[in-house]
Amino acid sequence: MNKTSAEKILTVLNTQYPHTEDTMNFLEFETPFQCLILTILSAQTTDKTVNGLRGELFSRYPDAAALACAKQEDVERIIHPAGFYHAKAKNIIMASRALAERFGGDVPQTIEELTTLPGVGRKTANIVTNHAYHKVLGIAVDTHVKRLSIRLGFTENTEPEKIEQDLMQLFDKDWWGHINYLLISHCRAVCDARHPACEACVIRRMCGWWKGSGNPGESKEQEKRP
Ligand code: SF4
Repeated sequence: MNKTSAEKILTVLNTQYPHTEDTMNFLEFETPFQCLILTILSAQTTDKTVNGLRGELFSRYPDAAALACAKQEDVERIIHPAGFYHAKAKNIIMASRALAERFGGDVPQTIEELTTLPGVGRKTANIVTNHAYHKVLGIAVDTHVKRLSIRLGFTENTEPEKIEQDLMQLFDKDWWGHINYLLISHCRAVCDARHPACEACVIRRMCGWWKGSGNPGESKEQEKRP
């Protein structure tokens, strides 16, 4: 897809899902540390679930120094609803230790430093730099961004890091900080993984999946399309 067509799609989505800088993140946090920990915990679960456990988690462990000293079984009990609680508890304790030992308890502000922390990949690092520090250094590619980028024809890759590179080349930097929010919003509204509501989709005429061109990694419904 060319740049003009791609930006036309984002322009429509930007009108469909109006937002401000304060409403772009779906997680409820007050500090960069909370943003980092909640983003790690949000893998493979809903933001609502993660927001629901933040009260107990951060009242017991308000900063990196406190969480670094936590007993893993205590953390596991609190974060149990988020799933994968054993690995996640280990990661957030180890990440907190790394923050305390290497960064003076602060959350670093670069992708390179953030991705040295246990449990932190480029997606998490992009979310933290964007939402905790208002620095747009890349594009967070989660399962929604991946699915919709493939369906729309923004990329032919299936690996998140390659998709991020494709999106960064396709769109001007002014869009980077908005793409994650716009694509997640559209997936939640209509572009479901199994049953996308294409009939109600405002960008269907511009969607490669809808037009039947097909993309790698996607299963297509064999329904008749107008
Ligand atoms: S037309 Fe269907 S597949 Fe394409 S973006 Fe809209 S809902 Fe998703």
